Amino acid sequence: MSAERFETLAVHGGEPRPAAGGSVVYPIHQGTVFEAGPGGDAPYTRLGTNPTQRHLHGRLAALEDAEDAIATASGMAAISVALHSVLGAGDHLIAAGTFYGGTLRFLTEHAARLGWTYDLVDPADARAWREALRPETKAFLTETITNPLVRVGDLAGAARFARGHGIASIIDNTLATPVVFRPHTVGFDLVCHSATKALNGHSDLAAGVVTGSRERIARVASVMCAYGCALDPHAAYLLSRGLKTLALRVRQQHVNAMAVARLLDGHDRISDVRYPGLPGHPDHRRATELFDGFGSVLAFRPAGGTAAADALIAALRLPYTAASLGGVESLVTRVSGGEAAALPDDLIRFSAGIEATDDLVADFTRALGD
Ligand SMILES: *Cc1c(COP(=O)(O)O)cnc(C)c1O
Repeated sequence: MSAERFETLAVHGGEPRPAAGGSVVYPIHQGTVFEAGPGGDAPYTRLGTNPTQRHLHGRLAALEDAEDAIATASGMAAISVALHSVLGAGDHLIAAGTFYGGTLRFLTEHAARLGWTYDLVDPADARAWREALRPETKAFLTETITNPLVRVGDLAGAARFARGHGIASIIDNTLATPVVFRPHTVGFDLVCHSATKALNGHSDLAAGVVTGSRERIARVASVMCAYGCALDPHAAYLLSRGLKTLALRVRQQHVNAMAVARLLDGHDRISDVRYPGLPGHPDHRRATELFDGFGSVLAFRPAGGTAAADALIAALRLPYTAASLGGVESLVTRVSGGEAAALPDDLIRFSAGIEATDDLVADFTRALGD
């Protein structure tokens, strides 16, 4: 691990010294055509070798404590090319988690067509992983903090399990961000992100990230080139800029999420407050051991069912009613029960932004009629 603290890495990690052209801001190379000698290899945007893309890759690798990184056109592109890089027809995947809806849909709608089989298992139950293991198992997929139920599985145990059985371990670190947890440090092979969320943080671009060893990222990059889902250089530049403030934003989100979780926890009109920072959360101890902060996302249920949930959301003035997470603006949404199994219809997800804590707490207090 680098000796520098994360705040420093977010600003300086992967930045060339001396600065390119003397500018402390790395430029956008929007061009797709580069000169090469006769027969030589030239950078090419679809391959992710445009200088602005490569600059971003170096920054991302530094932040996730990885040898290498590749940026893709979305978070789903990152997850799907990561899976393609380790699974072929006839292979089996252990999918340990409840999973982001898009990831779950990718498996349910496309895995069979690709000749992949998978088992969905509990991320915290090591016995379930062992029982799911088959001779053809090639990969283990999980999420650092599950969405929307904010569970934290046995992450170090999962990476050990995968390594011990010679299978690739892949983790979606979107909800945690490398500020909270860096999965390579406990042995995960590939780390994926929807950079659309907290890494960029400003709700103004779609991007994905995969980090890992040079060898593994070369395989991921080869799939990405074949499918043609590299990140556009202009978006790469914006993402690199967004990363500069990642540590500050995520720490303020943590403070805000914690304050709102504390207000809701124990409130007589609210039940089932789920935030790993609360001592009553089933994974609180594990999250405290593994994490630096607990992220921006919490979930809860108001007394009175879906009508009460919708009324509370309508009464809030600061958060936008929108389904994303990790941005500078607070967002609130009712998570529909249809997508993942066993979600109550009145479950509200709140993604804390970077507003003043007191203003958010006052908004919730007023909306709850206190
Ligand atoms: C949003 C999200 C994704 C998908 O990211 P896109 O950039 O929208 O493709 C994947 N995983 C998690 C946990 C997410 O929140």
